[in-house]
Amino acid sequence: MKLQLFNTLSGTTEAVLPADGASVRMYACGPTVYDYNHIGNFRTFLHVDILRRTLLLFGLKVTHVMNITDVDDKIIRNASAASTPIADYTAKFERAFLEDLNALGIQRPEFIPRATDHIAEMVTLIQQLAARDLAYKTEDGSWYFRIAGDPDYGRLSKKDFEGIEDGARVDVDEYEKDTARDFALWKAPKPGEHHWETALGPGRPGWHIECSAMALQLLGNSFDLHAGGEDLMFPHHENEIAQSECATGELFARHWMHVRFLLVEGKKMAKSEGNFYTLRDLLLKGHKVSAIRYLLTSVPYHHQMNFTFDGLTDATVAVEKLRTFNIRLTAATRSGADNATWSERVKQADAEFIAALEDDLNTARALAPIFELLRFCNGHLDKTGNIASPADIADALALLQKFDSIFAILEDRDAETTRAAIAWAETEGRTNEVSSDLASSMAFTDAAIDALVAERTEAKKTRNFARADAIRKELAEKNILIEDSKDGVRWKRK
Ligand code: AMP
Ligand code: ZN
Repeated sequence: MKLQLFNTLSGTTEAVLPADGASVRMYACGPTVYDYNHIGNFRTFLHVDILRRTLLLFGLKVTHVMNITDVDDKIIRNASAASTPIADYTAKFERAFLEDLNALGIQRPEFIPRATDHIAEMVTLIQQLAARDLAYKTEDGSWYFRIAGDPDYGRLSKKDFEGIEDGARVDVDEYEKDTARDFALWKAPKPGEHHWETALGPGRPGWHIECSAMALQLLGNSFDLHAGGEDLMFPHHENEIAQSECATGELFARHWMHVRFLLVEGKKMAKSEGNFYTLRDLLLKGHKVSAIRYLLTSVPYHHQMNFTFDGLTDATVAVEKLRTFNIRLTAATRSGADNATWSERVKQADAEFIAALEDDLNTARALAPIFELLRFCNGHLDKTGNIASPADIADALALLQKFDSIFAILEDRDAETTRAAIAWAETEGRTNEVSSDLASSMAFTDAAIDALVAERTEAKKTRNFARADAIRKELAEKNILIEDSKDGVRWKRK
């Protein structure tokens, strides 16, 4: 099993392998913790999680770094408006981000460094660049990278920077146009602004130098893979490469992966567009975290995807089908001889699942054989009355586990996650955002529903149909649906 992944740097699809033969060293740009993250941000983090999980499934080790950007213009501005130290201001959003990662089943990277814990390394890096005449100080005490000093500038985004104006500068982190400019490495503070006293003078780091310094420190001068959303390719990643390679003289990251945007009606989901949903927004509307994960991962990373509520509904149904299949296989009677077609189908689905992941993490294609197998096995179990051989069931369950080591939706933590979101809304004074349907279905704990469902089953046994109907009605009014099937009684929140 070998992952073939598109490499933005080379423009070709190449195998991802650890250069040191031991562990894939990878860096993925993390969030700027000035607010809650929207599901566009999470699409990127989820696909980096799919990458990570695939490498692990393929038997490789990973050393994965994801930074937390806890100082930038917005953070300084918002913290100052709230009269809060920046560390206190960002702590809340950092915590929320990590909770959201957890809720979405995103595995923790080995390292999650904060930019403000690595100021010394950033200063050293800027000094190295200055020693090579690639960084210069301006009158106000800021430091800039001299693009004209790097003949290879533009190698990632392949932009044509002909006629770069030497000394033209941007002092903001966000470029207005796709034009090359000397960019800020270190920003002198405005009066009263939060800053660090360093050998470069007082100030704070630019965004790009943060990632270079943390990546070089934690992964070494040269490492295997660097990932981020497609908007980071230029200027952020281009600038990371320029700073790092000019300082070390070595190739920075060999492989670059860029996750394409999540769109809403054809436009990038973005804070600035006002067309975004945070994870918490969706949970409070009654959507399940498993469906959100499934939806955002089911379209491969190299395609842009449009977010719609219909898509989210379809994802909810898909997750339910897979969970029901898992439960049905687990509960099936193991007896009789192996079925040649069954075992052939499992083998084929397994091979197709792996081949799709190997092929540039094609998650959509990876799902197809799992659903085909689901239909086949369900058909078989319908015919036999839920009986299959021990080996056949074990094989199908093993493949389902393999599927879940990537997609991570079988374990049902939906209610727990939603409950945590409601508790958060209460502490933030945002209970008005909790949908009324959700509030009523959450009024019952899982244990209370289990008890009522058991009481209904008992009532039916003793032919007390009035009580049984009353229980069904009471739960239905709270948006909790009871489903009677051949395999027993199940319930779900609508
Ligand atoms: P930020 O906190 O804005 O730096 O974004 C964190 C990550 O989310 C970066 O890797 C961005 O490229 C990514 N990102 C932002 N908006 C979207 C979007 N609409 N779709 C996919 N990824 C996004
Ligand atoms: Zn970065």
